Amino acid sequence: MATGVLTQLSLMLQETVLISSILLLFFRFRNTFGLAPIYTMLGGMFQMANLWSASIYVQFTPELLMSPGSVVLFPAAIFAVLFIYIREDAAEARKLIYALLATDFVGSVLSFMAVSHLRDPGIVNRFNLNPELFVHMPRMDFVGSVALFADTILIILVYEYLARKFQRSLFLPIFLSMTFVLVFDTVFFVTGAFVDTKEYVPILMSGLLGKCIAGALYSTILTIYLAKFDVNALQHHSQGTQHALGDIFGVLTYRQKYEALRIQATRDRLTAVYNRAFFDEVLASELALSDRSDRPLSLLMIDVDFFKSINDTFGHAEGDRALMMVAKSLQSMVRQSEYLCRYGGEEFAVLLPGSDLNQAIILAQRLCAEVPSTCIVSGKSSEAKTSDGAAQDRPITVTIGLASYPKEANSGESLIKLADSRLYEGKRSGRNRAVPSASPDAVIEQQVSSQVTQ
Ligand code: GH3
Ligand code: MG
Ligand code: MG
Repeated sequence: MATGVLTQLSLMLQETVLISSILLLFFRFRNTFGLAPIYTMLGGMFQMANLWSASIYVQFTPELLMSPGSVVLFPAAIFAVLFIYIREDAAEARKLIYALLATDFVGSVLSFMAVSHLRDPGIVNRFNLNPELFVHMPRMDFVGSVALFADTILIILVYEYLARKFQRSLFLPIFLSMTFVLVFDTVFFVTGAFVDTKEYVPILMSGLLGKCIAGALYSTILTIYLAKFDVNALQHHSQGTQHALGDIFGVLTYRQKYEALRIQATRDRLTAVYNRAFFDEVLASELALSDRSDRPLSLLMIDVDFFKSINDTFGHAEGDRALMMVAKSLQSMVRQSEYLCRYGGEEFAVLLPGSDLNQAIILAQRLCAEVPSTCIVSGKSSEAKTSDGAAQDRPITVTIGLASYPKEANSGESLIKLADSRLYEGKRSGRNRAVPSASPDAVIEQQVSSQVTQ
């Protein structure tokens, strides 16, 4: 008996590894073969799963009665839906769900027809097949179809939820969602099909045990595949985002991909701060919020001084690097609830919800001091040298024009216009300053040693 059990276990293990390997192998080469081989294979296997579940049960102990059809073959369908969802998207997974339901439907209809053939007295039944095999239990077929539909939807919802919860782990969301859905399926299916039979409890218990083991095996295999053999695809997904490879698994799913794209669409590609389109949107919504909540909204327009000369002297690449430094420096001073945007070229805008003009002036002056102290364009890192060949470092300065809503402006347009005109006032009066400044009668120059000249 013990060797029989081991043989049966070993057979079931081989089946799991064989099925998942072939599925993943075809998936790996989907650019050559397309996804049709996987879908066709699953359809065939699904019929085999039904046949085995109706006919083959391994008796491990008097209480443990497992069908390889339901603990090995059936979970493969759930496994396939999950990995197609993870690696492709919800639309592709949905096709597979429909294909499985179609297979299930056609299989059920054809089983009834096979019975009609077999019950005809004139039929030649070469293997003495029992018609009962094909319609083992119409109820079992029906419950199985409903369970399958629920499983395929559930696996995506549960995985989606868990992948967000456990963003750092690839294995956990896969394993937990597989196990959850297989447990659900077993309880649903076995109860629906066997609740009034004496095998109900053994089949339920064995199903739970068997499917948990199958879930762990399939999850391990899928995790290994994704981490070791599909790394190129994962790296491909990571391009354009700032995530480390470990984080990539968090952006794989359809909605997560959408979310990542949505965030990407609001960001400036060079500096990663918000872009102009986002600025326009958030300005409108913050103005409305300011009206409703009766709180001020201030705007800083920030322009880098003599930026053209940085480009000309140090080269365009160093100019880009300077812009990234400035953005980073500004970002470090801006709160989570405030919005730093690249307004255009070397011009940035900061929206300060809840800040009045005085609070905005304090921040603007801090920014004027912070930027030159943290942003130095370096002759060493570029081709640029002074005439005597020595590398020359140059701190970057900014000029800021600011205005506040609703005290000084009555619309978004007039707020921008006022801040802009003050910015140019600052440029005209010597740059490297904020306008208006804290002192109403004079524009206070920042005490920053700057070698900026043009
Ligand atoms: P001012 O102090 O009056 O602002 O002088 P400025 O030289 O900064 O002003 P101007 O607006 O004439 O120059 C802005 C320059 O910024 C022109 C453009 O070539 C450069 N620029 C705009 N966008 C980028 C960018 O993405 N990368 C680089 N390297 N340069 C840019
Ligand atoms: Mg400029
Ligand atoms: Mg400019």
